[in-house]
Amino acid sequence: MAETKYIFVTGGVASSLGKGIISSSIGKLLQARGYSVTIQKFDPYINIDPGTLNPYEHGECYVTVDGHEADLDLGHYERFLGIQTTKANNITTGRIYKSVIDKERRGDYLGKTIQVIPHITDEIKRNVKLLGNKYKFDFVITEIGGTVGDIESLPYLESIRQLKWEMGKNALCVHLTYVPYLAAAGELKTKPTQHSVKELQSLGIQPDILVLRTEHELGTGLRKKVALFCNVDEKAVIQSLDMPTIYEVPLRMQEQGLDSIILQKMGLPVGETPSLGPWRAFLDRRHKATEMVHIGLVGKYDLQDAYKSILEAVSQAGTYNDRKAKIHFINSEKLTDANVEEELKDMDGIIIGPGFGPRGVEGKFVAIKYCRTHDVPTFGICLGMQCITIEFARNVLGFEDANSYEMNEKTSHNVIDIMEEQKAITNMGGTMRLGAYECVIDKDSKAYEAYQSEHIQERHRHRYEFNNEYKEQFEAAGMKCTGVNPESGLVEIVEIPTLKWFVGVQFHPEYSSTVLKPHPLFLSFIKAAIDK
Ligand code: GLN
Repeated sequence: MAETKYIFVTGGVASSLGKGIISSSIGKLLQARGYSVTIQKFDPYINIDPGTLNPYEHGECYVTVDGHEADLDLGHYERFLGIQTTKANNITTGRIYKSVIDKERRGDYLGKTIQVIPHITDEIKRNVKLLGNKYKFDFVITEIGGTVGDIESLPYLESIRQLKWEMGKNALCVHLTYVPYLAAAGELKTKPTQHSVKELQSLGIQPDILVLRTEHELGTGLRKKVALFCNVDEKAVIQSLDMPTIYEVPLRMQEQGLDSIILQKMGLPVGETPSLGPWRAFLDRRHKATEMVHIGLVGKYDLQDAYKSILEAVSQAGTYNDRKAKIHFINSEKLTDANVEEELKDMDGIIIGPGFGPRGVEGKFVAIKYCRTHDVPTFGICLGMQCITIEFARNVLGFEDANSYEMNEKTSHNVIDIMEEQKAITNMGGTMRLGAYECVIDKDSKAYEAYQSEHIQERHRHRYEFNNEYKEQFEAAGMKCTGVNPESGLVEIVEIPTLKWFVGVQFHPEYSSTVLKPHPLFLSFIKAAIDK
């Protein structure tokens, strides 16, 4: 395709309507037609990236292969499209301002007064076009975080207005809104949608397509009414009903012709509707899998979004093992030797979650000890892996005060330690070991059985590392280091081979599990949980 096409996805009426899922679904449908597609998210907050945000504020922090701490929506983009995103796929207001201010300090603006328009909007526009220009994508989908009407969103919407004006048919706006159902009146209400579109129009943006989130089927009358009041073609008013799984959404969008409408409006040939074969096969398998596998997730954040990628990776691996994976959240702050049996006994497998800081760590040790001594399939991820080694050091090697430097700087048995180069760091943001690193796997291991490869690359997000001074003692006592970074010698994977499935990984495998390519370690862990 000669020129890159730009699709903007905005949201109105309320937040959390699923702009990320709609953007991913549009991407999926265009990709199925043979176009190269990428998706980016613009977040209107002032943080440079979400790395310093508490998961309670903004859910999980996703990590890209190139080591950027990103919004969790990038996880949806990768899971749906099977693509890899980068730092350029997630921009925040903080990044935009920082870049403009840096340019101002360098003197790049030649004495001009720096203003929101044109300087901030120009920087936003430059970032919108960056991916398209650099990698020649056919489509760049840009999701704007927040809700139309927010003060923070204004510069983004002004940039979209300008880009739509400059690009003509090569730019299009999809606006997602909500149609509430008033039970007392027995009616669906379109007024909030009308108001939200008016708000967009007052900013100079006419949405081309409306996607209406609803809990009840919208009749033709209602669609006609929305179309008429909002200046949108009737067939460009699409409904998005609640689905049992988010992975159904692309199919429901395709049935209503969302992708054909986009192509038509952008002056591209519509042609035949692709069959989405492998995607449908995944969904069929998912619907047929009714037998359950119960996985306990031990962690301190009792909030779904905080472990988004782990939940998705587990549920995908469940489907590929023909099971419905049910995750039970187990709050590590409440786990004690007295209640651990009661809490864990019905689980087929346990995940020890990632995390930061000492809160809830002692409960993780309690869970790990129970799993290790009862041979429950156990998967430790990042802090979870570190806890697996600490528990082993305390209860098998007999180092009672064993700990991570993160939890206790003074421990005499720092089995998890801080690297010299990390010690010097004073800034919190973006300074951890981040992004993809290589790992070489021992052929005689559960990890190798899963990956079927000696060389892998996985994403990291942590500051502390396994202390190699203890490696020999661990191995002699039965915990093997089966994955190691070939350059630094840092330990990436630990296992207890005498147990059914007891694996800890310093990296985050959950980030790279996708719908059509589930992650080998999650597949193997779920299989072990089923076999238990
Ligand atoms: N807090 C640990 C570290 O920084 C683990 C981080 C994580 O689980 N992502 O090393």
